[in-house]
Amino acid sequence: MFNLAHDARAGQAESNDPAAPTLQQRLMTSGLERPEGDRCTICFDLIELPVGQHSKMNGCCMKRVCNGCGLAARQRGMFDRCPFCRTPLPHDDASMLAMIHKRVGKGDAEAIYFLGDQYYHGSLGLTKDVSRAIELWTEAAELGSLDAQYALGLVYYTGDGVEEDKPRGTHHLQQAAMKGDVESRNKLGDVEYDNANYQIALQHYMISAKLGYEKSLNYIKEMFKEGHATKAQYAEALLGYRDACNGLCNEGSFKVLLEINSYYALLASAAAPAASKWSSLMKGVGERRVGFQEGNGLLVGFFVRSGDLGVTDDVPRAIELRTEAAELGSLEAHRQLGAMHYTCDGVEEDKPRGIHHWQQAAMKGDADSRHTLGIAEYNIKNCKLAARLDDIL
Ligand SMILES: [Zn+2]
Ligand SMILES: [Zn+2]
Repeated sequence: MFNLAHDARAGQAESNDPAAPTLQQRLMTSGLERPEGDRCTICFDLIELPVGQHSKMNGCCMKRVCNGCGLAARQRGMFDRCPFCRTPLPHDDASMLAMIHKRVGKGDAEAIYFLGDQYYHGSLGLTKDVSRAIELWTEAAELGSLDAQYALGLVYYTGDGVEEDKPRGTHHLQQAAMKGDVESRNKLGDVEYDNANYQIALQHYMISAKLGYEKSLNYIKEMFKEGHATKAQYAEALLGYRDACNGLCNEGSFKVLLEINSYYALLASAAAPAASKWSSLMKGVGERRVGFQEGNGLLVGFFVRSGDLGVTDDVPRAIELRTEAAELGSLEAHRQLGAMHYTCDGVEEDKPRGIHHWQQAAMKGDADSRHTLGIAEYNIKNCKLAARLDDIL
């Protein structure tokens, strides 16, 4: 059982030896790689973060299977069996619970954690019981479950359902973070940020961003805007995140990568002429998938338009980039060009031109543009046409 008194003694003994690394040093030098438990048990790839959203565990074997492998199994017609162990999936809470209890009986850390989770939320027909949840999580944490450490960290830190004990919560987060648990690492960043220890917060976020956690990357971006992180630190986080995501990200998070490439191109070449910015940006995208090229011009266009990241608001340049993106097939670029011209946002009003862009996007299936065309037609009292356009949606 976890024991605070024991840990306090360990801490004292440690501080008596000047050569021993401090907790802070150990924190920043451990857990720099994702844990093995973050891999899919079928394809062995690291699962995209947050792991819970991109993978599934079944009560039969408690083995983590990535969504890609789950989908592949369904495409092969395996709908009602676990893609890993092929046990038929339970159809009701009671049989699901029985299955989990069987794994718990075998001392499976993930099953014990999972059962704790069910008690914490009062799901699978169980009565909500936070003390029982904590008991199970503690057992699972001792057996090596990082999810359980994280859960204990959160519950004690926030005092959600239990008496708040921030040092105890932090201790659990630290234990998990030092073993590579990314969400715990990110949460430690939050803890330090809340205590106004910005440099330590940044160090934590940097580690989790480099492990591929988008949330941490976004926090570093905010810290950069607030002046708590330098441009070089932000660029370091972007590159680290990008590298972590290479070969790992699915199409859903590719949009984020595009955004990152755009940011990075702007950061890296703040002093370089626009042409070189553009070529370095396109090079970054070209290294990935051609099908996604379209979005990038738009995103750069967006930053140029909004004057974000110290770029001067430059409407003609934004239109230029958006036009290029639109020509490359970006519906979003058409949609935004439509809005700019139609509403005279930074440019001379040119309603027919705006409508033209929306039409281009709508004809390629862009529902938003179709809807906006409906509004435009309605505004010019062409109600019949407006109704028809909305009908197509
Ligand atoms: Zn897989
Ligand atoms: Zn299974």
